[in-house]
Amino acid sequence: MPLIKRLFAVFALIGLCVPAGYADAYDAKPRLVVILVFDQFRGDYLDRYRAEFKSKNGWNLFLKQGAHFTDCYYDYANLVTAAGHATIGTGAYTDGHGIPLNEWYEAGPDGQPHQVSSVADDRYVLVGAPAGTKDLTGASAHWEMATTLGDELVLATGGQARVYGVSMKDRAAILTSGHATKGAFWVDHNTGAWETSTYWMKELPAWAAEFNASEHAAAARKASGVAKGSFYELVGRSAASVSYQLDFAEALITGEKLGQNPANVTDMITISISSTDINGHAFGPDDPSQKELIVQSDAALDAFFTFLDKTIGLRNVMVAMTGDHGVATTQKAGDAEGMPVLDFSPGDFTTPLEQKLEEKFPLKTKGKYVLQMDNPYLLLNRGAFEAAGVSEEEAENTTKSMVEQIFDGFVSRTGDATAGRQKEPPALTNIYTTKQMREGLLPQTQYGRLIAHSYSPYVGWALHLNFGPYQFPWHGSGTTHFSANSYDRHVPLEFFGTAFVPGTYHGVVAPVDIAATFASLLRINRPSAAVGRVLTEAIRPGGVGTTSVSDTQSVGAPVMRGAN
Ligand SMILES: [Zn+2]
Repeated sequence: MPLIKRLFAVFALIGLCVPAGYADAYDAKPRLVVILVFDQFRGDYLDRYRAEFKSKNGWNLFLKQGAHFTDCYYDYANLVTAAGHATIGTGAYTDGHGIPLNEWYEAGPDGQPHQVSSVADDRYVLVGAPAGTKDLTGASAHWEMATTLGDELVLATGGQARVYGVSMKDRAAILTSGHATKGAFWVDHNTGAWETSTYWMKELPAWAAEFNASEHAAAARKASGVAKGSFYELVGRSAASVSYQLDFAEALITGEKLGQNPANVTDMITISISSTDINGHAFGPDDPSQKELIVQSDAALDAFFTFLDKTIGLRNVMVAMTGDHGVATTQKAGDAEGMPVLDFSPGDFTTPLEQKLEEKFPLKTKGKYVLQMDNPYLLLNRGAFEAAGVSEEEAENTTKSMVEQIFDGFVSRTGDATAGRQKEPPALTNIYTTKQMREGLLPQTQYGRLIAHSYSPYVGWALHLNFGPYQFPWHGSGTTHFSANSYDRHVPLEFFGTAFVPGTYHGVVAPVDIAATFASLLRINRPSAAVGRVLTEAIRPGGVGTTSVSDTQSVGAPVMRGAN
């Protein structure tokens, strides 16, 4: 046989052997991509509680059968839910996808600033909302100024790939999945009923209506011991609500036949579990209830992934898991542990600030100069400054100096040397104006880069603030997240699938690497503003026939064979 023919024969043979590390959206390899987010899930939790995880396909799907990254940090400084989910979906930071906060202010028809949510879209109305719902304003991803991995998957397959988003929170369902999705579903806060918006459909699919009409919500209330009151706030913090969300995802996968695409291309679902955020805000990361919720989620995840194994086969599924942000220790836990955590009132500085601003620039319109301290941005009322003839530069620079003066004036209040450890006063560690962020007038340091990545035109006239470690303006109980400090930026990064080499990986990676890595494996374009790195260290090397069966057997991972 001539050399050229022999080479063709070899290549043909290679082509027939589907390699373990091979993935390709155009050939349904894998059949289903799952991006799983746990809201407010800090990067230390999985290792901290791993001894408690008993299920095969629960957290151990990642810790024992997948690629487990110990050092995943967001590389920006506005660690809030909407921004985090947009970052996971788009593989870009706020300077790429535009989402800075859960809500911000836009000028209304009356010229006054009006608060808008990161997904509210009044061109559409809610679908499936319970009778009597007062505000039927719809939702879409229209504020998200970048494409998502799901969008690119749809485009790459000529509209054949089906992409869906699910979460108790609208912003978490919508911003992670994107624009070209077939549906996004979230819950009505009072009842827990699943709803969507006319951006996607005019009525709920039959399987979703059936889910709402079933005993699921009542069973979750019963299991969590919450007979009355807000489903979202009270049931939402329980392990029953983790199952409630995963059961809905199962109903969606079954109802829409996800992973069984008629055009034989890859489908995708993003699932964000809100429960850890609801419980975490109320009780903090160190409370036994948060540990219990994470440990109980193990069984819920095991049920979900076992369902996927039975219906689609885990060897045909590729999963990434992460969090949208971490969280700070509560002041109560800090006090008990001898760590000077400080939960102070935002009014401590916004009230004297407003007074100083009004003294310097007498108000010429209704409203105030300070709209809100919406961590980490101090949002200013552009209209009020403009009415007083003050430019953006003067408004932001003057406000910055005043905030610095106010913080300089905070002192430790007790002079009693026998009183034990004293609280440190609130410390302003960094403050930058919108103008500095927009024009890139930031220090050439790692911190400067975090701030640059937090820029969005939606923030308007404002200042970006960061405080001392474990210091946060909040409500006096519970805790929050938003800052440039590591504990807010640290999240898990986990992968499962035949494309990955199981193991624990040390070294800094970021949630933006999910979109980059999956786009590479699926052989599709990255999302439009993606900045992540392909995590080649965790991808099976070579991609073609390099993994032996014994390799995969030794780590318990499923083996993708030629016939799949
Ligand atoms: Zn969140």
